[in-house]
Amino acid sequence: MSLENVKEMIPKEAKPFKLVFEGPDLVIYTKNKKFFLEGTPKLKELTRILRKRIHVRPDPSILLPPEEAKKIALELIPGEAEVKEILFEPEFSKMIIFAKKPGVAIGKDGELSKALREKTNWYVEIVRVPLIPSAVVNKAREIIHEERAYRKKFLEKIGEKIQLKKGGKSVGWVRLTALGAFREVGRSALLLQTKTSRVLLDFGAGMSTVNKFPHTDAPEFLIDNLDAIVLTHAHMDHCGMIPLLYEYGYKGPLYLTEPTRDLMVLLQLDYIDVSHKTGESSPYTSKGIKQALRHSITLDYGEVFDITPDMRLTFQNAGHILGSASVHLHIGEGYHNLVYTGDIKFGPTRMLEPAFTQYSRVESMVIESTYGGKSDILPPLREAEENLIKVINETIENKGKVLIPVFSVGRSQEVMVVLANYKQQNPDFNIPVYLDGMIWDATAIHTTYPEYLSRALQRQILHYGYNPFADEMFIEIKNPTDRKNVIDEGDPSIILATAGMMNGGPVLEYFKHLASDEKNTLIFIGYQAQGTLGSKIQKGIKEVSLTDREGKTHAIDIKMRVDTVEGFSGHSDRRQLLAYLGNLVSKPKKLIINHGEPKKSFELASAANKLFKMETSVPWNLESVRLR
Ligand SMILES: [Zn+2]
Ligand SMILES: [Zn+2]
Repeated sequence: MSLENVKEMIPKEAKPFKLVFEGPDLVIYTKNKKFFLEGTPKLKELTRILRKRIHVRPDPSILLPPEEAKKIALELIPGEAEVKEILFEPEFSKMIIFAKKPGVAIGKDGELSKALREKTNWYVEIVRVPLIPSAVVNKAREIIHEERAYRKKFLEKIGEKIQLKKGGKSVGWVRLTALGAFREVGRSALLLQTKTSRVLLDFGAGMSTVNKFPHTDAPEFLIDNLDAIVLTHAHMDHCGMIPLLYEYGYKGPLYLTEPTRDLMVLLQLDYIDVSHKTGESSPYTSKGIKQALRHSITLDYGEVFDITPDMRLTFQNAGHILGSASVHLHIGEGYHNLVYTGDIKFGPTRMLEPAFTQYSRVESMVIESTYGGKSDILPPLREAEENLIKVINETIENKGKVLIPVFSVGRSQEVMVVLANYKQQNPDFNIPVYLDGMIWDATAIHTTYPEYLSRALQRQILHYGYNPFADEMFIEIKNPTDRKNVIDEGDPSIILATAGMMNGGPVLEYFKHLASDEKNTLIFIGYQAQGTLGSKIQKGIKEVSLTDREGKTHAIDIKMRVDTVEGFSGHSDRRQLLAYLGNLVSKPKKLIINHGEPKKSFELASAANKLFKMETSVPWNLESVRLR
């Protein structure tokens, strides 16, 4: 449908107005104040027909000067909302209010923001300031704000490209190429093509030094031809190499959820930092990260967006980490529907709801298989939590310290919620929990987006006013002196430190000093990949040698207790993967398996084939599969 056709369908009272496509959104900039204030409900029919988000915003010519608008805002919004900053983006006719309590700033049934719109003529957006301050969230928001003029142009260009070519053309065919994470875990990357579109799904870093990059040498992979990148979640094996694409000249959009955007920036910056510390060179610089941020377009779960002339994208909750999404792509008008699960957890956790399964139509699906093998049955969460608390309590009774290696995003926060809740029920359990690595920053991002957490946790935070992440039992370790104090102090404590597989990071510092004392305990709660130090210790070696930054080697006798508590995984185990498939309302005919060791992928494939009669395949990297 052309812009002219759409114009015809807009109610007359909106006149005079300007119609603009901003990325996947349609925006009506109206000079009619009444329509700006009351017009949105009249667009329901148009929203249904176009299947687009439609915003009504004031034309810049009717906006009150920012200084006056700011004054009115500060008078109107009560102090308890704790407004921290008010920014103006005239490019989008938008006033952005940053508040610690956005609910208070919006007012009951939105009455305050409505009054503010009426008095100032600005489109009002109210944004949450995290409970725990986060430098990364601030920086990401700052860049998006600073780059508003560029973003306005960029969004209009994208919008035009998606819209003007729309309709008429047939999809022709649908084809998927495996660029990484097939018959392996790491460097997730898939290329989805039709006759008119080329979309990249994830672009991650490999775990080993040999296969660090997805297959950019595949003949169909051309950076200049890419229409969009879609990112499922912020783990490095999915987002790690995205900045590289921007450094090589990609200028298109990156679709992701808001928490994924902030977590992605955090982990990529850390990746550069860690690379430098270990003397390796990082494949990209912070410039690439900034470029990715400039081109990011965020969407919430369940929102439907045109991302190319023949592809419509919807994100749904994947239950894996904060902001993680499965990708639903509706191709053509009912021509084909693909779901790429990304990493999924189809089971209860403290932090997130289980993965979404209610897709109305799915013909083919790409599913992960990290724990898809026959023997991959994990104990229930309740049991895992009890085991963890038991080992911790035994160590504390012995006056020892507990060291838990974790990834900064995901399991760290899950364990924090478990510990904080246990303390709520057992006030005697009053022992410090030190957080080292990027855990603190990642946790701050969790306090920025409570609406992405499980309903139970949201209730606890928003209604009962208790935020487990902000419990005073958690203490940030900021520098080597802090770290040394924690090691030297005699009292029992719990230490959560990165990296999760002990292949680097502050966890090694603690391990070096705590390993020789049998009072202490090392607890593994996450997957330990073959060949990592974590995996070796887990298997029972008694002596390791570690090389420090100066190149000196230290032999370490492991006398501390070493324990593994299973059941905390952010991935579905085999039963959950099969239950996920069983729960799908619309069963895919084609099931493509990725993100797993070959044996596990094949074992999942054969079970899915037997139970659900799905046509399954486990492609190699570089293979292409025709979906239709
Ligand atoms: Zn993941
Ligand atoms: Zn993954």
